[in-house]
Amino acid sequence: MSNSKKKALCKPIGFIFYLYSIIFYLSRKYAELCKPIFCKLAKLSEKWYNSLKHLREIYMRKTVIITGASKGIGATTAILFAENGYNVVINYNNSFESARILTSSLKSRGFSVSMIKADVANRQETDILIKETLYQYGSIDVLINNAGISIINPVNQLDDIDSDRIFNVNLKGVYNCCKSVYPIMVNQKFGKIINITSMWGQVGASCEVAYSASKAGVIGLTKALAKELAPSNINVNAISPGLIETSMNSNVSIEDLNSFVEEIPLGRIGSTDDIANTCLFLASEKADYITGQIIGVNGGFVV
Ligand code: NAP
Repeated sequence: MSNSKKKALCKPIGFIFYLYSIIFYLSRKYAELCKPIFCKLAKLSEKWYNSLKHLREIYMRKTVIITGASKGIGATTAILFAENGYNVVINYNNSFESARILTSSLKSRGFSVSMIKADVANRQETDILIKETLYQYGSIDVLINNAGISIINPVNQLDDIDSDRIFNVNLKGVYNCCKSVYPIMVNQKFGKIINITSMWGQVGASCEVAYSASKAGVIGLTKALAKELAPSNINVNAISPGLIETSMNSNVSIEDLNSFVEEIPLGRIGSTDDIANTCLFLASEKADYITGQIIGVNGGFVV
């Protein structure tokens, strides 16, 4: 190092040393006065350190958005992902209270969870859902399109408003969320999209024509999007549940349920855990080579 450079460096170092000595001298001389100031400064820096540590922990975790997670399959999936170290975004539309109770119970267990309202049938709202998640967690690793509705009625008795709503939530809702998250995942060059369809989308259900058609649409969407996004290292798969014990089936009579169970080779109705576990597997690195697939979780009812 040249002499002029050494001189240039010495000046600021000397000044800092000089300043430090004055502060040290004054703090000794006026210890009583300085003590509370230093204590405050120490507390402040501890606070900054802790909030930075908290931010670092959040950014280290993977983030999952689960649509329709206020109850049923979505709620169980939210709990499982939180327990497995994800930042979890619980999306809801109408059931604010259920979403709030679930979120606060997970938060009280120390998990990183937040709830965001969005009607998946509305593209502007799905855009906000994605943007808000990105703002909070910095990335979106997994999107689970689970939100869905069903109305059981023969076609000639199904109101047009109801059939439109079924298509808009079940099919357009999946399309909207995929479209909103698309640029983010392509930019990341990573992502897993898991769509919840239904076995009725594969084989059709009497008195659930709109529902079956919407779920069949989800299967087509899944296969096409998987091909489109594979070059960006994004996996797109669907889970096709059989009959699962949730409020969606609360209108089905016990007699109908029992006769249905008799036709299920594994002899029981599915649980929300059956679907949540499959979601966790598809979201994991263990499923990196699976894309464009429709995974039946139906006890063997459709093979
Ligand atoms: P569920 O208990 O009735 O829950 C449905 C969830 O979807 C709720 O959290 C609801 O949230 C949400 N949702 C409905 N419309 C929405 C909208 N426009 N925007 C955002 N969220 C919305 O039903 P589930 O049985 O858990 O069903 C979950 C998924 O599995 C559905 O796609 C369903 O079709 C599929 N599935 C279920 C079965 C079964 O037997 N249960 C079988 C095959 C497939 P809010 O209440 O907050 O609006």
